[in-house]
Amino acid sequence: MKAVYIDAHGPLERVQVGPIEDPAPKDDEVLLAVKAAALNHLDIHVRNGRPGVEIPMPHVLGSDAAGVVIAAGPRTHGVREGDHVILNPGLSCGCCEFCLRGEQSLCASFGIVGLSRPGTFAEKVAVPFWCVRPKPAYLTFEEAAALPLATLTAWRMLMTRCRLQAGDTILIHGIGGGVALAGMAIALNAGAEVIVTSSSPDKLRKAAALGARHTIDYRTKDVAARAREITRGRGVDVVMDTVGAATWPVDFAAVRKGGVIVLCGVTSGAIAETDLRTLYWNQLTVMGSTMGSAEDFRRMLAAAATVRFKPVIDSVVSIDNAVEAMRKMETGAHFGKIVLKVAN
Ligand SMILES: [Zn+2]
Repeated sequence: MKAVYIDAHGPLERVQVGPIEDPAPKDDEVLLAVKAAALNHLDIHVRNGRPGVEIPMPHVLGSDAAGVVIAAGPRTHGVREGDHVILNPGLSCGCCEFCLRGEQSLCASFGIVGLSRPGTFAEKVAVPFWCVRPKPAYLTFEEAAALPLATLTAWRMLMTRCRLQAGDTILIHGIGGGVALAGMAIALNAGAEVIVTSSSPDKLRKAAALGARHTIDYRTKDVAARAREITRGRGVDVVMDTVGAATWPVDFAAVRKGGVIVLCGVTSGAIAETDLRTLYWNQLTVMGSTMGSAEDFRRMLAAAATVRFKPVIDSVVSIDNAVEAMRKMETGAHFGKIVLKVAN
């Protein structure tokens, strides 16, 4: 089968598009014919590798996918050949303390398709049967592929962790990324006032058109000062941070007393300083969040279907042009999800 894979960790040049052996699904797995797959920042981290984390090579990249079930093992349930499905790429053991609580993304052995096992940028992928759900009928395969990882992550951050409410004000850094855009849509549907930042006037214009009440160009404006101005000195209720090191000090300067900072990614770097006086004096809550539970996924899909939510798609490109697509994501030139079309 054709796949996008690496045979060693390293820069983008390591990524190859070509033939690779077909996956062999186990008894409790389904084999999907992938129709579409979507890029995530996670792909870059997987490609670069992390010291101490061994990945068998060659390794197929990719975590998001939508496709058709072409085989279901004898120990699968509720999935049949021919089903149109989307993938929840979170992998959990099903039997640890956290899984039994329904908190799969806290699982002691939590993993992700494309990180802990071969990924979705391929004509076929084998996944545990409980990872697939019916594809929402109102979405095309390309739209469905763009939904899972980013929207699930944003959903858990804002709805499950922060319990965002109507009337809240939220600051979202780096609008244009999949999680940030999904976060904006979720916040708007929840009745929150959304402030977004970017270095691109074009992205800010697009975000305003999608419903952002205030936009801040962080190259020309002090984001925290502007957020305080917008909120008449009060500060925002919630800061949604997917950027990490570069925005961390801004988060603490922009959030109101008693407010919440929620972090799910560190695209600008993982090490940051915190003024602990601000943390305790202002009685702030700092939360980390990773992907989501099975229940988060169910609720996210249900809410998405109710409002006919469609993820913002930057572009749909052929799997043959995966390297170009990855370069675009890496330079941050995209607005929304970049989707690989794998099959018609
Ligand atoms: Zn577990």
